[in-house]
Amino acid sequence: MGQLVDQFLQGRTFGWNNVLDILIVAVFVYYVFVLIRGTRAVQLLLGVLVLVGIYGIAVRLQLTVTALVLQFLSVAALVALPVIFQPELRRALGQLGRLGALDRLLTATSEEKVDVTVEEIVRGALLIRQQGNGALIVIERGTGLQDYSETGVPVNGKLTAELLASIFMGRSPLHDGAVIVRSAQVHAAACLLPLDETPERFAHRYGMRHRAALSISAQSDAVVVVVSEESGTMSIASNGRMIGNLDEERLRRVLSSLLRSRIQPLPFRTKAS
Ligand code: ATP
Ligand code: MG
Repeated sequence: MGQLVDQFLQGRTFGWNNVLDILIVAVFVYYVFVLIRGTRAVQLLLGVLVLVGIYGIAVRLQLTVTALVLQFLSVAALVALPVIFQPELRRALGQLGRLGALDRLLTATSEEKVDVTVEEIVRGALLIRQQGNGALIVIERGTGLQDYSETGVPVNGKLTAELLASIFMGRSPLHDGAVIVRSAQVHAAACLLPLDETPERFAHRYGMRHRAALSISAQSDAVVVVVSEESGTMSIASNGRMIGNLDEERLRRVLSSLLRSRIQPLPFRTKAS
């Protein structure tokens, strides 16, 4: 190890740039760990480590064919990994674009906007429930949801409970799909949300609307309000978790605290529990 460090430094003195160097790598490694925690990437990483170990042994013992096969495998893995980890990579790169505090400064929604958003959405959810309809309302925050907005119909209207209730009326052409709210505006309606990344265990418990809400909340820092058409219950999805069965007061409280909370530096998927 000491030898390795000597070789690495090549006789140069250990300066501040080395500290910076190590810090950057440490932060990077930390975020990779956080990102893959509780995902299938962990098992895969273990698998890769085992293969690397076997390869090392094969080279040592001069098992030429085994080593060759493993070399071919590693080439295949290079191609396969980005495909297998496409959702993780997409999320990780998305995170890079909005680094914690800096991002908070840039996208900070004013208190006033948060208040309006909470009030109108709570009132809207109650109206929608009263009318016996369902709703899927995605509140965009740091992560841009433009891709999803574009699958729907642009609205760009002031966020009001009445507008939400009209959109989600059973006979409205816009009722089917999700509404995306951006800085106290109904940005788009009838949007199609992704359904991947819904953990298996939710598959039986929730219908498509709730799974779509979980899915987008796991992939981004968006907060999602769901009104069930079947049961009339109101829920909030955030960070890949569902907080269900909310009454008016709790809906207001949870929504308001989530929208005020610091944007998570890395909203990772919930571990299967
Ligand atoms: P509910 O309790 O309201 O019945 P659910 O979770 O059982 O909700 P579904 O009954 O499967 O969900 O779907 C209800 C509605 O949710 C659909 O008609 C559609 O408008 C909306 N929806 C379902 N999946 C998506 C999706 N991927 N993106 C956007 N909207 C969706
Ligand atoms: Mg249903």
